[in-house]
Amino acid sequence: MTRTDWLERHALYTPDHPAIVWAPTGRKYSYAELHTRATRLAATLIKRHDLSPGDRVAVLAENAVEHVLLFLAAQTAGFVLVPLNFRLALPELQYVVTDAEPSLIFVGADYADTVTDLDTPADLLPLDEVFALSETNDALTPVPRAELPPQPGLDDPVMILYTSGTTGRPKGAIISHGMIAWNSVNTEMRLDLTSNDRSFNAAPFYHTGGWNVLLTPFLHHGATTFLLPSFDPEAILRLCDDEELTILWGVPTMLKMMSDHPAFDEVTLESVRYAIVGGEAMPEPLIRVWQDKGVPIRQGFGMTEVGVNCFSLPEKDALRKIGSIGFPNFYIDTRVVDEDGNDVAANTTGELLMRGPVVTPGYWRNPEATAEAIDEDGWFATGDLVRVDDEGYFYVVGRKKEMYISGGENVYPAEVETALYEHPAVAEAAVIGVPDDTWGETGAAFIALKEGQSLTEDELLAHARSHLARYKVPRHVRFLDELPKGHSGKIQKSELADRFAPA
Ligand code: ATP
Ligand code: MG
Repeated sequence: MTRTDWLERHALYTPDHPAIVWAPTGRKYSYAELHTRATRLAATLIKRHDLSPGDRVAVLAENAVEHVLLFLAAQTAGFVLVPLNFRLALPELQYVVTDAEPSLIFVGADYADTVTDLDTPADLLPLDEVFALSETNDALTPVPRAELPPQPGLDDPVMILYTSGTTGRPKGAIISHGMIAWNSVNTEMRLDLTSNDRSFNAAPFYHTGGWNVLLTPFLHHGATTFLLPSFDPEAILRLCDDEELTILWGVPTMLKMMSDHPAFDEVTLESVRYAIVGGEAMPEPLIRVWQDKGVPIRQGFGMTEVGVNCFSLPEKDALRKIGSIGFPNFYIDTRVVDEDGNDVAANTTGELLMRGPVVTPGYWRNPEATAEAIDEDGWFATGDLVRVDDEGYFYVVGRKKEMYISGGENVYPAEVETALYEHPAVAEAAVIGVPDDTWGETGAAFIALKEGQSLTEDELLAHARSHLARYKVPRHVRFLDELPKGHSGKIQKSELADRFAPA
């Protein structure tokens, strides 16, 4: 496989088929229009801004069609798109911009003030200029390939996506053209995508989910995506019925916000084939709510560095294998290894390694982090701890960096948290390992209670003791109004560790 400019093919096969629909207005962008605009945008940026293949083009904006056009122009001409996280505070944003060193930054209207204090030699352009820069005629004549730089290769970078920063500073994962193409193939093979599928995208583009869960697989397969500027549960529910969407996806919190919304009872969701969830495990009651509505749930698992569609649990197993992420997708090799790098037996916890054409070539300008993550045989160490059951189903146990050892026993905070969440008064729970004179390390639990609920430390610990082995029961409990979260909604344990001071 050598083709990286696959939009050109869909413009040939199904020129009039809608690729993107801007949901707020219903404006449709056909494959022919997207392809033409992408080539024109690429040609204009080269001419006016002297861009060359490999140069970075950053975007600071909520989701917009212009953002997709910039990605497609990057794909066409070999630029590298850097979607910036618009939720970052200025010093965090400065860190990423300095690291990525873009030549151009496209800025959404809402972020014009943010960039005035940004220290960068990059040219700043308003995002809405993208339409003028990609202006086309009624005949939709694309710029011929001969007038553009040569088609990039599969190993060339097309994007730098920064990880969520759950375990430290965000790292710039290089996303190659090949990763995007193979992620699409993997997605199609597990999820039975067709060009008649219709879905939505409301996840921010600075996150791997925004691009890789369905948007690029859909474009790759000639399907249709309804784009929303941000997540809006009611708008998406109505879209499902009005536009006969066939596939839904999100993190469990998004699906919960949709099923909790009054509009949930007013829609039929008849056209929906299934919903994909990822990022974390979907709780059983929520699976049932959606199943009762006739929408099967497919649990997925992914990460920025490995495409995002890495694992998938068939919908028939949603309840039978609750908590499982299913099997690896087609073109991904996996291993589960112990501390010494030896494969572990079934039902034994070890670190998940992945290899294949969807694995990142490395971290941007960070050879140390790359060498630490990827060995000479191409195995990427995920830092995630998993176990595989007798039938070959994978389960996420927790993160390697979060595991702590109490009295010689390994403790996985995720397991302790699951037990704490089972207490009806607990809204949020996070457990970290902290130093302990007797046990080496012990657990500290941070708890936020549901509104109107009260709970004492003793009550919580009694609950924990009835669910967990003694060494897993946290020795410290702190109640907070809300736990600190990062931009993808994940609890920031590094901040909890900073806050922890033994009472
Ligand atoms: P950083 O790498 O910067 O510390 P991060 O790992 O949170 O941040 P992402 O790439 O956005 O950044 O998240 C991927 C991680 O999310 C996975 O490595 C895994 O730990 C977790 N994850 C994803 N899907 C699931 C799931 N279904 N169940 C449990 N954990 C999941
Ligand atoms: Mg990570």
